[in-house]
Amino acid sequence: MPELPEVETTLRAVAPVLIGRTIESVNVLRPNMVNNHPTFAKTLKGKTVLGMKRHGKYMWMELSGGLNLMLHLRMSGRLGLRKLKDTPLSRERIRFEIGNDLVLVFNDPRTLGRLWIIEGNDVYKDPSMKALGPDALTLTEEIFLERLKKKRGTLKSLLLNQSFIAGVGNIYGDEACFIAKIDPRRKVIGLSMIERKRLYKAVIKTLEQGIYNSGTSFSDFADLFGKPGQNQHSLMVYGRGKKNCRVCNMLLESTKIAQRTTVWCPGCQK
Ligand SMILES: [Zn+2]
Repeated sequence: MPELPEVETTLRAVAPVLIGRTIESVNVLRPNMVNNHPTFAKTLKGKTVLGMKRHGKYMWMELSGGLNLMLHLRMSGRLGLRKLKDTPLSRERIRFEIGNDLVLVFNDPRTLGRLWIIEGNDVYKDPSMKALGPDALTLTEEIFLERLKKKRGTLKSLLLNQSFIAGVGNIYGDEACFIAKIDPRRKVIGLSMIERKRLYKAVIKTLEQGIYNSGTSFSDFADLFGKPGQNQHSLMVYGRGKKNCRVCNMLLESTKIAQRTTVWCPGCQK
């Protein structure tokens, strides 16, 4: 599932192509993936892309006419860039014709991705955005520690909670706990100040490394031109249950936390 680094990778690739271009037409092949259907396509036609933004796993295009086109990739969504004359791919769900000969494609095997339009210059008034915590990549240590102070429960479930900080999912949550050398099953309330600061640095480091490696690709994620990310080769624990720790060689353990498989090293993480 795309997390912050995959969304950021997508945004960095797509923004320079889209900004300044006009959406000539929109073809919605899966109406259930867009809100405001059937006016969705008509509303976007003729609008120019002025900017692109991201917060957590959400990204959006700022459009002329005071509109924002919100995109959430969810489980398996991704954006692709194609030529108008290319044969459409089987998993294309929404097609945006941009400029003269380009098509921005929202490709999604599981069709769980979502696109919707927000009017006006404040996307944070939207219920989905209002509920988000600060973006995990850009938040300061001070804010992180302050928010952590008020929290209870298990560390891993807190990291997955988008209202705590936005952008960390199962992959980067497991990796951050490993880098911080903290057992993901620990109660947040029992973390020392040193561990809390280590956790903050680990979250940022893990996300930055994911972006540096152009995201993690296990099945669906790829960049605009179909090239997979490289971060899966750098993962220390995620997806490696019952394998040996790359640092201390102990067998990695796994369990379910918040319905998600969590992997950690009993040797390195206390
Ligand atoms: Zn280890």
